[in-house]
Amino acid sequence: MKYTVLTLFPEITDAFFANSIMAKAIKRGIIEYQAINIRDFTTDKHKTCDDAPYGGGPGMLMLPEPLAKAIDFANCAESTPRVIYLSPSGRQFNQELAKELAAEQELILICGRYEGIDQRIIDKYVDDEISIGDYVLSSGEVAALAVIDATYRLVDSVICAESLTEESFSSGLLEYPQFTRPEVFDTMRVPEVLLSGHHEQIRLWRLEKRVEKTLNQRPDLIQRGRELFNKEINGIIDRITGENNERNSGH
Ligand code: SAM
Repeated sequence: MKYTVLTLFPEITDAFFANSIMAKAIKRGIIEYQAINIRDFTTDKHKTCDDAPYGGGPGMLMLPEPLAKAIDFANCAESTPRVIYLSPSGRQFNQELAKELAAEQELILICGRYEGIDQRIIDKYVDDEISIGDYVLSSGEVAALAVIDATYRLVDSVICAESLTEESFSSGLLEYPQFTRPEVFDTMRVPEVLLSGHHEQIRLWRLEKRVEKTLNQRPDLIQRGRELFNKEINGIIDRITGENNERNSGH
């Protein structure tokens, strides 16, 4: 997977790629990264990248020409990268979309600044507008890094596949609660079953906890996943909701 980030502040994304698992993935040749400074494609002596919007209104917009040149420069390779503009108006980013993007050969991520970018850039170049949530950030770099971080770890052999199978959102459930040493912390004990060494009981306990936690904290995921869950998960959901209903009705 290759990530090309178009930005006015490459130092923000450079720092992320220099760290930890990502740096190892780059060293192993699994991930490639380049940051392209949009300012390098300006032609005036002040390296101007923004101007006032037509029709008036507050703030400035990023100029289309330097951005178009930067995209053309990034796009000149033989691959057909997917061009993404990080934007609060975009499709909401989630684990499903992360999986979809992780399967691409190359992503070009356009980071907006100021009031954003000229609509003609979106119309001509952008395959997807992606939002990382219903709030407005001051720039696209943080959003690009969220997309990069959530996708690169799903690229084959970046991290051990086993770590991905039971984490939050895999199979539509949140992750089970986790514990490490010591066995007793501030009078709270690690659940006995986790010390038992009994693999099947541990698997069952973890699955029940995933369902319980998802029902409590993200009931929308349970509703959405109901038809996709297997018989075992649906059985646990029915039992826990039945018990909850009984408790609430005072029986
Ligand atoms: N005027 C824009 C609006 O109201 O939709 C907001 C522009 S914002 C201050 C500047 C840049 O931050 C955007 O061009 C975009 O790249 C990025 N950005 C802000 N919020 C975002 C979000 N929720 N998801 C993805 N990118 C975001």
